[in-house]
Amino acid sequence: MTDWYEIEKKYYMRTFEAVRLPVILIRGKGARVWDDQGKVYLDFVGGWAVTSLGHAHPVVTKAINRQAGQLIQTSNQFYTIPQLQLAELLVKNSCLQRVFFANSGTEANEGAVKLARRWGKLKKNGAHEVITALNSFHGRTLAMTAATGQSRFQEPYQPVPAGFKHVEYGNIEELKKATNEQTCAVMLEPVQGESGVNIPPPDYLPAVRRWCDQSNILLILDEIQTGMGRLGTLWGYQQFGIEPDIMTLAKGLANGVPIGALLAKEEVSVFAPGDHGSTFGGNPLACAAGYATLKYMIENNIPEQAKKIGEYFYGELQKLKQKYSFIKSVRGKGLLLAVEFEKEIGSAALHSCLKYGLLVNKVKPNALRFMPPLIITRNDVDEAVQILDRVLDEIIV
Ligand SMILES: *Cc1c(COP(=O)(O)O)cnc(C)c1O
Repeated sequence: MTDWYEIEKKYYMRTFEAVRLPVILIRGKGARVWDDQGKVYLDFVGGWAVTSLGHAHPVVTKAINRQAGQLIQTSNQFYTIPQLQLAELLVKNSCLQRVFFANSGTEANEGAVKLARRWGKLKKNGAHEVITALNSFHGRTLAMTAATGQSRFQEPYQPVPAGFKHVEYGNIEELKKATNEQTCAVMLEPVQGESGVNIPPPDYLPAVRRWCDQSNILLILDEIQTGMGRLGTLWGYQQFGIEPDIMTLAKGLANGVPIGALLAKEEVSVFAPGDHGSTFGGNPLACAAGYATLKYMIENNIPEQAKKIGEYFYGELQKLKQKYSFIKSVRGKGLLLAVEFEKEIGSAALHSCLKYGLLVNKVKPNALRFMPPLIITRNDVDEAVQILDRVLDEIIV
């Protein structure tokens, strides 16, 4: 039998060495995945907050199959219908008016920063600086590494592109102090995902919005993780009663087919012909998957379902907190939740969950994150919580 672990070790770059778990996943259905030994897991990672309708959702699979048999790629020299259907559906269901499609979240963010800089050049005397938050995550290209407010992502690649300033997340005074006439935009996640599910104080984003209006600065919301129903509303900004000038999407948008999207208000959409582009971005295959996903999500009220089941899950995690004194906090919104421990037991808990058939993410050495498909049931939550309970009971703190 082929030893895939050896093949990986021999041929793949070592980038994932520290994170890969000893599991070879073969197929998935709904909230469950199966490995090459036939063992089943309850999937509370969901392809990293991606497979929001669950694995192999029949509606999305059908759309992909149909489009794959018809036309996968044309280049943007031609019109294609799925791209325009998805663009129209996004605009009709958000506060933004124009769309550009990319292939990933990072790429959507690059486009957002380019658009903000273009706007600054045309409308604000060449303002080009973007303020982002400490502990943010915006992606892995050189510029998005610079945008990300965590030095460990930047250090191996210094010098990284200039033009980014980082301020404490949740602190409006710091943001005000960092602003000057060179500032063209503020870029924030509505809830910080990769640094452990950090929810800002309730008045923070409204205050940022007011400050941006007052200072003629664009507000870019990176909704790559929080968008597409994850927080219990279709878009994260709806939770805070504000509207961004620019929003980026990716993860859940096509239920697993790679895609990214950049959305902007009409008056901010200042790209001129030739200013930006993409070979694959907006191709019919990805957009057909995205269209099927978003349409299904809206027609079936999936964000509302995520809100309800998220509240139930949160409540069950709170019960675990009552039981185990070494749980420091339970936090999150919708189905983006985390449990933080007093000690660095994340890795032990993760491996133990794996053993009992539950996939989770160790978001920090002392915290687990849950980002399951939005279609999970109470039974799925009960099963996951039972496994967690057993895992925590067995763990030696
Ligand atoms: C995942 C993520 C990204 C990067 O997206 P990729 O598709 O991996 O390029 C950027 N921002 C946020 C908030 C994310 O969660």
